[in-house]
Amino acid sequence: MKALALFSGGLDSLLAIKLIVNQGIEVIALHFVTPLSNFDKDKEDALRQKVAGLGAQLKIIYLYDDFTEILKNPRFGYGKNLNPCIDCKILMLKHAARLMDELSASFVVTGEVLAQRPKSQHRETLRLIEKNCGLESLLLRPLSAKLLEPTLPEKEKWVNREALFDFNGRSRKPQFKLADSLGIKNFAWPAGGCLLTISSFCTRVEDLLKHDECTPENLELLKTGRHFRLSRSFKLIVGRNENENNEILKLALNRDIIFEPLELPGPTGLGKGVVDCDTKTASCRIIAGYTSQNKEATKIIIRIFPEVNSETVSAAALDENKLKQFRV
Ligand code: SF4
Repeated sequence: MKALALFSGGLDSLLAIKLIVNQGIEVIALHFVTPLSNFDKDKEDALRQKVAGLGAQLKIIYLYDDFTEILKNPRFGYGKNLNPCIDCKILMLKHAARLMDELSASFVVTGEVLAQRPKSQHRETLRLIEKNCGLESLLLRPLSAKLLEPTLPEKEKWVNREALFDFNGRSRKPQFKLADSLGIKNFAWPAGGCLLTISSFCTRVEDLLKHDECTPENLELLKTGRHFRLSRSFKLIVGRNENENNEILKLALNRDIIFEPLELPGPTGLGKGVVDCDTKTASCRIIAGYTSQNKEATKIIIRIFPEVNSETVSAAALDENKLKQFRV
């Protein structure tokens, strides 16, 4: 018997997987990555280790285009911030449902806890999610199973319902106690997760949505650098260190504009959209302001792709107030 499990990296999903593994069922943990996931190779390694420690396998699934679509237009609305959690859960579960055949799995597990989150984990919402993902009766939530209708795995005794739990509400104490009894340690996943849960970060997402620029590439870029909205159709992203400068260059598209200081070490700027004289000047002045040792004016090279069109301009740093006005 095999099950798939949605695995965020957090404690609840770890517990849910362990409870099912302990019933002698093979589990493949599915970790979904969106353009707004805080995810990299180190985190993947850490997740793989955690899952292996539970006796399960890990599969990473990238959800870029579909996630962007639901972020732009969530059928069931946003949560506290701009997080379309209900639509997102449905999307992940639909993918899991599609993978069941391919991976020969009989049901799907999540670490959801009844009433833990005000909107997305209400009893009615859990039912709505089941109905819309095509997994009705095949979706098992081991942490709250005893408070929910028995699912097929329980009715068919693939899983022993008695060994499942009745967690309810926001308190985390029962989870900590269960983790202790299952020998699960080091379950913190502090740097992981979805950036839409951070309200200050959502200001950047809101700006993209407002200007009809919400694409997977633009969402990915929100995780790097300082962002400035210079006109309705032009935005500048400025690296804060060498890593970010490199990341910005990596994510630049052919039609984008690169701004770089000519003679002094300084940030890389990425211009996106339709540039005009004002936005080009403002971009150079912002780059000049973040160029170390440059409080007066200096030569800034503006490279416009294709490189043959490169030009240089002289620019002085923009004053603080103006800078704040542009900042997203
Ligand atoms: S927090 Fe982010 S990744 Fe998690 S369900 Fe909500 S939108 Fe999806």
